Order: sequence, then structure tokens, then C-alpha cells
Amino acid sequence: MSAELSDLIGRHVRDIPDFPEPGVLFKDITPLLDSPDLFRSVVLAMAGRFAAAGVDRVVGLEARGFLLAAPVALELGAGLVPVRKEGKLPAKTLSESYDLEYGTATVEMHADAIAPGDRVLVIDDVLATGGTARAAMELVRKAGGTVIGLSVLMELTFLRGREKLSDVELHALSAV
Ligand code: AMP
Repeated sequence: MSAELSDLIGRHVRDIPDFPEPGVLFKDITPLLDSPDLFRSVVLAMAGRFAAAGVDRVVGLEARGFLLAAPVALELGAGLVPVRKEGKLPAKTLSESYDLEYGTATVEMHADAIAPGDRVLVIDDVLATGGTARAAMELVRKAGGTVIGLSVLMELTFLRGREKLSDVELHALSAV
């Protein structure tokens, strides 16, 4: 983690208390997206870490993960694959459910989006409990792909998501 980049990210991600529900401190990345030099540095840092690993496809997690995954995929010359909430993708999907504090959530990916043997980088904005990233990785594996890394803008370390993801190289550009 570059201390300088991490510090800049910290200063361009806004804390919004009690959104979307009471007790949640929401990490709003819109100021960062509106800072082109920093946004470019973030994309180059995410892509650069895995450039030598050979990435065939970049998976972006709905919704803010899309905003980072798209430019990283272009930078790496890789395909872009969206993982979305249930019921949003039009063609045949694979799906994976995971536990939330109350209830479960389901994410989906087009069944033909990843070819067997593909080397895949998964990208999201914030890593919280790790449930969403874990489910996305399972989707890639169901399709026969290999997850070579998970890259996030910010890791919320107190939620210990990293413990669910010990079998993948996790690259967090900043942490709180
Ligand atoms: P989790 O599955 O708990 O790791 O949650 C990760 C997903 O929820 C990511 O797609 C994040 O965009 C979003 N998320 C969770 N907690 C926050 C937070 N405090 N601020 C912003 N986004 C969050």
C-alpha cells in the first residue's frame, strides 16, 4: 500500500453517517471519482499490481465496483464482466447466495462470461464483511475461472472481511 496514495484516497472518500440505514458509516467515493488525477492514479495502481499476472477478465461488483473495474479492464486489455444483484442480468446466469446480518443476498453473473481457465481479477470499492467478494469469487470458480486477485479501494479492517478471503491475493489501496 503506498502511504501517499492511501492518504489521498482517505481524504477523497466522504463519511456519511447513518446511510443507507442508522448505524452505518457510508464511504462515499464520489469526491474521488470527481478528481481525475487521483482517479487515474487509483486505476493505474489497481491495474499495475496485477499487470504481470496475466489477467483475461476483470469482474466488477455492482454498483460502484463497475466504476473502477471498467477503466482497470481497459488498462489491462482484459474483458469486463459485471456481477450484479439478482434479476438484473438478461441472459442465462450463475448465482451465488451469501449471508447478511439479517437474511441473505444473491449475486449473479452471466453463465458464459468467464471461460474455463480464465485468469480473473475481482474489483470493488469497499471491502466490508467480505461476503459480496466471497460470493463473486465463487461465481468465477463455478464458471471454471481462476481468481488471481481481489482489489479494493478501501478495506474496513474492523469488519474482518480479509479473514473470509485468505485464499486470494487481496490488494487494498487504503484501509480504515
Ligand atoms: P460486504 O459484502 O459486507 O463486504 O460489503 C461490500 C459491499 O457493500 C460493497 O459492494 C460495498 O460497496 C458495500 N458497502 C458495505 N459497507 C459499506 C460502507 N460502509 N460504505 C460504502 N459501501 C459499503
